[in-house]
Amino acid sequence: MDAGKSGDQFETPVKYLKMVGPRRAEQLARLKIFNVHDLLYHFPREYLDRSRTVSPFGQENGANVTVRGTVISAQETKPRRNLTITRAALDSERGVFYGVWFNQSHVKKVLRPGTELLVSGKLDLGFGAVQVQVHDFEVLNQNGDLLHAGRMVPVYHATTGLSQRMMRSFTYAALEQWEKNYTEFLPRWLMERENLVPISVALRQIHFPDHRENAMEARRRFVFEEFFIIQLQLLKLRQNLTRVQKTHIYAKDNGLQQAYISGLKFELTEAQQRVTGEIMADLDKPYPMNRLLQGDVGSGKTVVAILALLRAVEGGMQGAFMAPTEVLAEQHFLSLTASLEPLGVNVALLRGGMPAKERRALIERIAIGDIAVIVGTQALLQYDVSFKNLALAVIDEQHRFGVRQRAILQEKSVQPDVLIMTATPIPRTLSMTVYGDLDMSVIDTMPPGRQPVRTYYVSPGELPRVFQFVDEQVKTGRQAFVICPLVEESEKMDLQAAEELYTQLIENELRLCRVDLLHGRMPGNEKEAVMHKFRAGETQVLVSTTVIEVGVDVPNANVMVIIDADRFGLAQLHQLRGRVGRGGGEAHCILAARLRTKEAAERIRAMKASNDGFYLAEKDLQIRGPGDVTGVRQSGLPEFKIADLVRDQDLLQVARRRAEELLRSDPNLESEENRSLKEHLHRLRQRENFYHIS
Ligand code: ADP
Ligand code: MG
Repeated sequence: MDAGKSGDQFETPVKYLKMVGPRRAEQLARLKIFNVHDLLYHFPREYLDRSRTVSPFGQENGANVTVRGTVISAQETKPRRNLTITRAALDSERGVFYGVWFNQSHVKKVLRPGTELLVSGKLDLGFGAVQVQVHDFEVLNQNGDLLHAGRMVPVYHATTGLSQRMMRSFTYAALEQWEKNYTEFLPRWLMERENLVPISVALRQIHFPDHRENAMEARRRFVFEEFFIIQLQLLKLRQNLTRVQKTHIYAKDNGLQQAYISGLKFELTEAQQRVTGEIMADLDKPYPMNRLLQGDVGSGKTVVAILALLRAVEGGMQGAFMAPTEVLAEQHFLSLTASLEPLGVNVALLRGGMPAKERRALIERIAIGDIAVIVGTQALLQYDVSFKNLALAVIDEQHRFGVRQRAILQEKSVQPDVLIMTATPIPRTLSMTVYGDLDMSVIDTMPPGRQPVRTYYVSPGELPRVFQFVDEQVKTGRQAFVICPLVEESEKMDLQAAEELYTQLIENELRLCRVDLLHGRMPGNEKEAVMHKFRAGETQVLVSTTVIEVGVDVPNANVMVIIDADRFGLAQLHQLRGRVGRGGGEAHCILAARLRTKEAAERIRAMKASNDGFYLAEKDLQIRGPGDVTGVRQSGLPEFKIADLVRDQDLLQVARRRAEELLRSDPNLESEENRSLKEHLHRLRQRENFYHIS
């Protein structure tokens, strides 16, 4: 085999494929499909079984059928503006029926008399004639395979401008050209042991399966592959880390820590003390820490992080504190400044939209070590930020902080210690395998005196009464959040909805309260100003989109109203609810929703039943149907291309074990039988660099 050629499918841009071209290539890029490999790894999300053809006669009205027929004649009518109907008379063995297309005049040119077709669609027996409303069709008397009818037909995630027909045709063209020289990169021993379908067969069968079983076998291969590769990367990262010698050493004395602790208004909980101990032990190890700190919303992770940062500062080194959003970064900056400046520690915030001059000055101070603790978002990872001696990076609330970003951090300096904090409770069954490269600490108890947030469900019609309640709570001196949903597809429309609600509230129900609006489209400094006023108690009610979701800490807030709560996942609802009741006293969470689906009702029920993040995470996994991709996204677990963490758990365990075995017997993948795998990993890593970072 020509080893030089084997990488081609990874390099060849899709625009060079038959039928694709530059314009389609741009559309494909929106699906993150850049080259042939991406296209072939864009797997169907489901299949339509159009393998059986039937006679259109003697079927029930409304049935979905696939029928064979020969074109007798075709005509087009325009009964109204914006409506074109193409109707073809088709000859079948048992008589003439009609195929109907709406607003697809382009089909007319294929509907020449004598052309044999397979049409799939809904049977309409309305007006005496037997008619099929065509969803999809296929011309039969061309040579070549059937793609759109007369078989198991793949259905893809598509995007505006790209139809299912195009997706199928592109994929088919890619297969025709590439499947033959697609080289297997999984080692033979593994293929045999796990009984996996070879790559070229699997690619064909997952896109255009001969039977459903073949599609399932192909899927099993790709799921295994996906898990196996991830596990290898994670284990490798860990292996590399434990081999690295740290060059920084922490001071033994912890006077700064003591000073900080004695300034706190509370005692550390036992759990906080335990995890702090675990972290301190890591810092003293010769290789970098790589630890995940899990603790439910409000369990007090920040204090633990500060203690770790102070260890670095005490030793004359720097610490970085990274938050997922500007709002959170600002909040952390404020609280870190308040508690650390009195101890003589310089804290600075690297804002997103800083004026260039100010930014340059700050970067300079970071580089010379004038700033001890730097707070910011992922912007801290940018190329122009360099540290004098970064010892510890704390990454807050970023379960999605990837393997890749961690690698960059490690490249940025003398291998800093890394502490990742998350409130996303990863079910025990999954944590080992999902975060295989991280050590784990768990804060499993709450600070004393916390009362569970009382959770209620109301229908949208009851909202006026809810806002009356908000008004009453505000009169007693407390504060409230009102959350409107943000849906990725249209931030603009969500913004509109939030603004409308805001206007309605200030004119009516909450006209006597001081209300403010916060949303994701605001410039950073405006967001900060809004948050500042709310934190200071100047604003009493904050109407907000979910930008508020993670980490926001306003102890005086005790009411959370969530509009259209059915549109949120359980993990997100739990996060939002965690914004209230942080300062003690009674707190309330009101979920307003129309319960359109069984799942939505179950999520609301679970929220009412429990305040425990771990319980809710397990529930979340149960409630979501298999293959519910959005569910995975909401639960904060890593996203997979094809694998489903719930449904495919067994395969995950096996992949994990095989990856461990492999690295034990061949730690650097040097043997001949593992060479193609090594090359594949290398390629994936290069591509990640290219697409996601640069
Ligand atoms: P999270 O784990 O969600 O990040 P935070 O660190 O923001 O939680 O802490 C939540 C709130 O609890 C803060 O207001 C913090 O000051 C307070 N807190 C933290 N630890 C304790 C403790 N041991 N006793 C009482 N309150 C605490
Ligand atoms: Mg937090």
